[in-house]
This record gives sequence, structure tokens and C-alpha cells, in this order.
Amino acid sequence: MPYDPTPRVIEIIERIDAFMEEVGAPLEERLYEGITFADLEPDLAEARREVQRRGLWNPHLPEDLGGLGLPLMEFVHVAERLGRSPIGPYLFNFQAPDVGNQELLAEFGTDAQKERFLAPLLRGEIRSCFTMTEPERAGSNPTWLQTTAVRDGAQFVLDGRKWFASSADGAAFAVAMVVTDPEAQRHRRASMILVPTDTPGYRLVRNLRVMGDEGSGWMSHGEVVYEDCRVPVENLLGPQGAGFALAQARLGPGRIHHCMRWIGICERAFEMMVERLVTREIAPGESLGTKQILRGYVAECRANIDAARLYVLDTAHKVDTVGAKAARVQVSAIKFFVANVLDDVLDKALQVHGGAGMLDDLPIAFWYRHERAARIYDGADEVHKSYVGRKVLEAWAKGAR
Ligand SMILES: Cc1cc2nc3c(=O)[nH]c(=O)nc-3n(C[C@H](O)[C@H](O)[C@H](O)COP(=O)(O)OP(=O)(O)OC[C@H]3O[C@@H](n4cnc5c(N)ncnc54)[C@H](O)[C@@H]3O)c2cc1C
Repeated sequence: MPYDPTPRVIEIIERIDAFMEEVGAPLEERLYEGITFADLEPDLAEARREVQRRGLWNPHLPEDLGGLGLPLMEFVHVAERLGRSPIGPYLFNFQAPDVGNQELLAEFGTDAQKERFLAPLLRGEIRSCFTMTEPERAGSNPTWLQTTAVRDGAQFVLDGRKWFASSADGAAFAVAMVVTDPEAQRHRRASMILVPTDTPGYRLVRNLRVMGDEGSGWMSHGEVVYEDCRVPVENLLGPQGAGFALAQARLGPGRIHHCMRWIGICERAFEMMVERLVTREIAPGESLGTKQILRGYVAECRANIDAARLYVLDTAHKVDTVGAKAARVQVSAIKFFVANVLDDVLDKALQVHGGAGMLDDLPIAFWYRHERAARIYDGADEVHKSYVGRKVLEAWAKGAR
């Protein structure tokens, strides 16, 4: 197969699997027994130290940042593997939104910002959040934000309300996307500013209840208010007015990571579905898998997951060879394509489990609740489809055949 994992990646995946079987799976099981993420955190912290001892920490990062130094084409296979467990990314310090914030700080941070914010993030001592979306303005148009940061001497003063700030509960700092230049051209209005969460005027209002689940700690989505929240001008991340450009840079590799993590979820849900079909009897000696309509589900899911994986691998190959900019349309295409495959596979896996599929005893219900959002965050389906459609038509008009 093209894009098969290299021997080095196969060896890493074997070590990840061994760790997950030995340490990760029993911790994951406790989530289904009803323990909150926050209550599980001390044990997760110990497990994260074990990942560090085993030399598997920060698998997504280059070696000079303490990572495994894998090119994207190799790392994507690791991302798929980590995606198989809801706590897999967190255990290896590959969790959103920290990964995006790490990449931002590594590329655009000053030395002082790197020392204060990036270094403890890489060591896994703190967590962070990213506050861009606002309740009052359509998140699909990030050039139209209304939270402001006004310069007052040596400080920026932030005012506004954000929501869906993933993992804000317990975060040590927030990256705030705020309007610094209201009169500028629309892609130059906003900037990113680093806000320690103990700054007066920063307030986590609540954890949002997502399909009945309020969550806690890293597994939560917060509503955050900035009220006369003052930070030094040195906390500006990148140039003033570059917020939109930074947001684009943050999302590029993130979308490929998300897609491979989703394929990991698909693969595990598919295995559970197949196991169910061969073991559940509908009558003595007659398994559910003898039903033609259910065999059709298996066939569709198998084909869709394989197609999705190959499409993402091909996109990662393009990013590695021709660059992220040239691969941008394809990155948009995999974002909506894989999110929909995930939606469909989870729905079918839940369906063949019958009533049991609805229970929190299995990861399927957890994923069903939380991963529906895959079609909304980092660009809703319709936004990506509009972009891909427009680019295809533009290229055609210019003579592409
Ligand atoms: C689980 C989860 C985690 C998130 N994490 C974060 C986070 O950490 N930080 C953060 O800042 N934000 C986060 N978000 C917010 C997310 O980025 C926004 O929800 C997303 O950008 C959509 O914005 P919106 O919710 O305001 O919907 P709107 O922009 O109001 O859009 C609503 C719907 O309209 C349709 N639509 C929108 N634009 C178009 C268009 N151009 N053409 C056709 N149809 C369109 C789509 O169907 C869309 O779903 C998260 C969201 C979720 C659900």
C-alpha cells in the first residue's frame, strides 16, 4: 500500500499499544464507570509520567522541542493510534487545544513567552485554552469578532465574552483572539494575546453542558468573560493585527491531526461493531451478522474508513512535498469528508448495539455525544464545502481540466 507506516513508526505504535493496554485501558474504563475527568486527573498525571519514562512523550513535536521528530507522513499513523482512546491524546501530551497553542508559541512566541508559557506546556505541567468563538457573533466568520483589547500605556485591556473554550477548566493561560484594530481591513482587525487565567478580570463563567455532559478539567468546554482584564503588551503573540493569519497557521496541521484521530475512533468503533455482529445472536445459533442489511453496514463502513484514511494520508503527503498552502483545498476537503465518515460509522456502530449502544458503559455513546461536533468545530461542513466548491470552479474557469 502507498503511505504504509515505516518500520520506525511500526515500532513506536507497538510501544504505544503496549502502554495503552497496560496503563491506558484501565484508566479509560473508569471513565465509563462514571468517574469525572477531574477526579481521574491524579492517576492520569502518573500515567503521563510513565509515557515520559518510556520515551513516547510529545510524539508530534520535532526533537529540538523534546518530541519524536517524526515527519508529518510518519506522525499521522501515530495520531490514528492515539485517537483510538478518548484519553489517548491527553496521555501523550498530544491533546487539543494545547497542541495548537504549542505550535503557535513555537513559531511566533518571543523568547520570554516561550520560557513562561511554552516550556511548562511541553513538560505537561500546565494546560491552556484557546478563546476565539463568541456567543453573539457567528464563529464561522472570525473576522467579525467583537471582544476588544485596547492599548492603555504598557497594557492591553480586554473586554468581551467567549464560549466553547475547550479545556478552559484548569487551564493556566488562554490564547485570546481579540480585536485590536477595529478600523483595519477585516483580516487585520484581530490579534492574539496571552492571558494567564489568574489575571484579574479573566473569569471562567461555567462549563457548558454539551449534550447533557458538563465535563471537567481537560474534557470540558468553557464560557469565559474578559472584564477590564489587563495584561502587559509583551503578551501580544506575533505581530499586532496578525490574529487571523495566526489562526490559519494554527488550524492547518491541526486538521490533519484531527482527521487521523477520527479515523482511529472509526477503526475502534468498527471493531466493536464487527465483534457485536458475530457474537450477538438474534435466535439460537443465528448471529446478527447473518442479516444482509447489517452486512451492508459493515461493507459501507469498511470502504468509507479505508477511503478516508487514504485521502488523509495523500493530503499529508502533499503537505510534506508541496507545502501546506498548495494543499489547502485538499485539507478542507478531508476535514468535512472524514468528519462525515466518523458521524456515519459511530451512528451505525451505535445502531447495531441496540439499547446497549445508548449506554455510557461503552465508548460509542461517549463518542456519539462528543464527536458530532467534528462537523462544526475548525470550520463547519458547509464552510469547507463552500471553499472547496469555489476553488474547483475557479480553477476550471482558469482552464484546469
Ligand atoms: C465541541 C466544540 C469545541 C470547540 N472548541 C473551541 C475552542 O477551543 N475555541 C474556540 O474559540 N472555539 C471552539 N469551538 C467553537 C467552534 O469553532 C464554532 O462553533 C464554529 O466555528 C462555528 O461557529 P458558531 O458556533 O458560531 O456557528 P455559526 O457560525 O453561527 O454557524 C452556524 C451554522 O451555519 C452554517 N454556516 C456557517 N457559515 C456558513 C457559510 N459560510 N455557508 C453556509 N453555511 C454556513 C453551518 O451549518 C454552521 O454550523 C468549539 C465548538 C465545539 C462544538
